[in-house]
This record gives sequence, structure tokens and C-alpha cells, in this order.
Amino acid sequence: MRIGQGFDVHAFGEGDHVMLGGVRVAHSQGVLAHSDGDVVLHALCDALLGALALGDIGKHFPPSDEAWRGADSRSFVRAVANMLAERGYSLGNADITVICEAPKVGPHAQAMREVIAADLGVDIDCISIKATTTETLGFTGRREGIAALATVLVQRA
Ligand code: MG
Repeated sequence: MRIGQGFDVHAFGEGDHVMLGGVRVAHSQGVLAHSDGDVVLHALCDALLGALALGDIGKHFPPSDEAWRGADSRSFVRAVANMLAERGYSLGNADITVICEAPKVGPHAQAMREVIAADLGVDIDCISIKATTTETLGFTGRREGIAALATVLVQRA
């Protein structure tokens, strides 16, 4: 077994929704990003890559590459899942925490779990989505951006 951790942040900007865990969530702002700016899926990809010491998401899907402009981050997850499988590993479980004052994550957590489980080819009970605020402190507390943390365990298939 191996473990990995990931962290991602995107600043809020113009827009009317954010992508979280592959789910479109209505919000008073969007996020500034080269791809779709899905902090949940980016943190998850970094955790999976980290578990196998394969570098980070920026190495595999560089923001300098026009191919990833506006990219659906689910394609990153599926690509990373393939890297895992090629090396003989599968996901044991993933525990993800979204950090923001808004939007509310809870009502969308189940849909996010379903998307992620489908893209990784695992049971939904292998995927945990939690949320917290920072009690109005710091950049998330000031509603300047949104962050996510992911921890994964992978095991030889
Ligand atoms: Mg990101």
C-alpha cells in the first residue's frame, strides 16, 4: 500500500458557477483557471500521482499547454487512473476536504462521490467528500478563493 496527499487552490473570479468534483455548482462567482479549475479533482489527481511518486498535475497537464485550456478535469482523473492501473495499482480509498465559506458543498457531495467513483472505477464507499470553512479567517474566509485537500491510499491490484 502507498499513500498520497494533494492540495489545490483557485481564486474566485467572474462567473456564475464552480466545478467541484466534476459537478457544476451554482455560485455568485467562478474561478480563475486555465482548465475548469476544479480544486477537488486537482487535489485528487495530485494525491494519486503523489502516491506513486509520479510528480504532480502541473507536470502531466501543464497550464502552458493550450490543449488543457478549459479542460474538463475529469479527463485528468481518468488519465491518472490509467497511470495507476498501468503500474498495477488501484485506489483503496480517497478522503477529500473542500475548504470555503461558499458555495455549500454538502448538497452536492453525493453527486461528486458518484462522479469520482465512476471515473476511478471504484465503489462509491471508497470516496469521501467533506467540507469545512476557516471561520472567516484567511483567503478562504474572505471568500477570495476555494481550496481542497485530498488523501488517498492505493494498493497493488
Ligand atoms: Mg488547480
